[in-house]
Amino acid sequence: MLCPQCNKELKFEGEFYSSIAELNSSGEIEGEVCITLSCAECNEELGEYTIELELDITNFSEDHEDENEHDLTVDLEDESFEEYVDTDTQLQHPGASATVHVSCICGKSISYAWSNYDEPEDVYKELGLA
Ligand SMILES: [Zn+2]
Ligand SMILES: [Zn+2]
Repeated sequence: MLCPQCNKELKFEGEFYSSIAELNSSGEIEGEVCITLSCAECNEELGEYTIELELDITNFSEDHEDENEHDLTVDLEDESFEEYVDTDTQLQHPGASATVHVSCICGKSISYAWSNYDEPEDVYKELGLA
């Protein structure tokens, strides 16, 4: 994929700028991470892109039998844009990572490392480049 502005091979640069994360009824954290992508070569802004955040925290709930006595809070820390290059295809997969901090009013808290990468084709499509 070539950059529509500079015609060089597209390398994403991104900015992790907002996120929503909350606990759903089945004890999983779900949310969305918004990322602005731009061409690493010429800084042309290519648009906005969303990455799904899903995290299973059933091990947090294990000693939380009576859910009514526990009130969980979800916070994101160290959010960042990331990418990895597939060594076979040489394709860049844009992604995001963060530390998901879950804490309860009873004092228990656990931090989870989260990251997610998407298929470049899907990103191109969402940005209208494909
Ligand atoms: Zn460019
Ligand atoms: Zn608790």
